[in-house]
Amino acid sequence: MNVAVIGGGYAGMAAAVTVAEGRAPVTVFEAAKTLGGRARRVEQRDLALDNDLHILIGAYRETLRLMRLVGADPDKLLLRLPLTWQIHERFMLKAAGLPAPLHLLAGLMTARGASFADRLSAARFMFRMRRQGYRLQRDTSVEWLLDQHGQGGHMTNLLWRPLCVSALNTPPETASAQVFLNVLRDSLDADRASSDLLLPRADLSRLFPEPASDYVRANGGTVLTGQRVTGIDERDGSFTVHCADGEHAFSHVVCALPPYHAGAFLVGISALADVAEAVERLAYQPIYSVYLQYPREVRLPAPMLGFESALLQWAFDRGALGGQHGVIGAVISAEGAHQDLPQDELARLVHQELQQQLGLLPDPSWYRVIAEKRATFACTPGLKRPESRTPLRNFFLAGDYTASDYPGTLESAVRSGIACARMILEQKTLVVSR
Ligand SMILES: Cc1cc2nc3c(=O)[nH]c(=O)nc-3n(C[C@H](O)[C@H](O)[C@H](O)COP(=O)(O)OP(=O)(O)OC[C@H]3O[C@@H](n4cnc5c(N)ncnc54)[C@H](O)[C@@H]3O)c2cc1C
Repeated sequence: MNVAVIGGGYAGMAAAVTVAEGRAPVTVFEAAKTLGGRARRVEQRDLALDNDLHILIGAYRETLRLMRLVGADPDKLLLRLPLTWQIHERFMLKAAGLPAPLHLLAGLMTARGASFADRLSAARFMFRMRRQGYRLQRDTSVEWLLDQHGQGGHMTNLLWRPLCVSALNTPPETASAQVFLNVLRDSLDADRASSDLLLPRADLSRLFPEPASDYVRANGGTVLTGQRVTGIDERDGSFTVHCADGEHAFSHVVCALPPYHAGAFLVGISALADVAEAVERLAYQPIYSVYLQYPREVRLPAPMLGFESALLQWAFDRGALGGQHGVIGAVISAEGAHQDLPQDELARLVHQELQQQLGLLPDPSWYRVIAEKRATFACTPGLKRPESRTPLRNFFLAGDYTASDYPGTLESAVRSGIACARMILEQKTLVVSR
């Protein structure tokens, strides 16, 4: 057994760590110099920024477990806050210190910025969903689900819409209601810690992929960065991986490429034609991040703050999180008119909206806009996502887009990587026990 993992994002590194933990030989091929893929460190002057400001939650059990396994202490690297949903000067929901689901119910009923009728209606909606086990007979859009349950304008604008866009990176009009309910079930209706917000204090490569690489190497594996794979061939049950430094033979492949790159490799392997077609059919949604460097005294009222504003959705205070004082990171998820703006215009408008919301701010000394145009797959109703186990023996797919209950997140990426590795290790156990 000799396992190739193609792609060193969260899915690929989760697969590699799990294979290495199972004492099987593994080699990771990552095209970029920095590990992490869509959740990676980006250098800006002498600062370590990220391609985007990611939010984790307490329900990311497998991500947290693997972080601990590779020696990346979540208690140090993540700021854990009890669920707080704060839309600046408009709305504030804070989970109460009660057992779940009372913590949320009490939070909803005492939320500031919504009428009693709106709060009661939101609590009733949660109860109805709970009673039906968070299952829909037929998937539909989040907007339709909310309409059906009388979740009118106010709660939708301040809670459900931003929650849907943040979690599914898809607007409620086209987002899958079933996946939205899965997220509500596992974050808001599990134990209290599951709904905690976990905000990174270190860059996203240091959070998991880099310590994961150290772990893989310490356990006999190989991690190659700056190694772009150019082709994968299958012959008589074994695989050849082609890259700049030559050809490498493997018994198993975990393809942990982003879906928009995976398709090109899959079409070349006849047994994977249907899988390639399913991957090619996926549509994508963007996420834009705008970093602005203000004088170091500039602070947000909270480390993470929501806005009801034309462009701005969330802003993060990098000073409060990781000591990058005066750096404010703004996030704009999902599609919108902002995609047509030149980057300097987008940065100017974000600065202007921050000023309107927070009061006079000095001009930033620099800004950086990072546009991830295919940040995640569009999480639409009834979407058929490819399975990790493919029709080709010993060839597996890992990534946030593979079949699961969850939208495109770090946790779904990590879980898919672990699942691929376990399927491979099961074969090892079978061979050994024979
Ligand atoms: C802007 C943005 C914001 C997000 N916010 C959140 C959030 O707040 N919370 C959350 O949970 N999730 C968030 N996500 C989603 C999360 O980042 C992704 O779901 C996750 O990183 C996907 O990991 P992956 O390993 O499946 O894919 P990727 O990260 O895409 O990994 C694939 C890897 O393959 C490599 N690769 C590509 N081609 C080749 C090749 N030919 N040879 C070798 N290697 C190659 C790439 O460089 C990459 O490292 C966000 C994503 C983006 C883009």
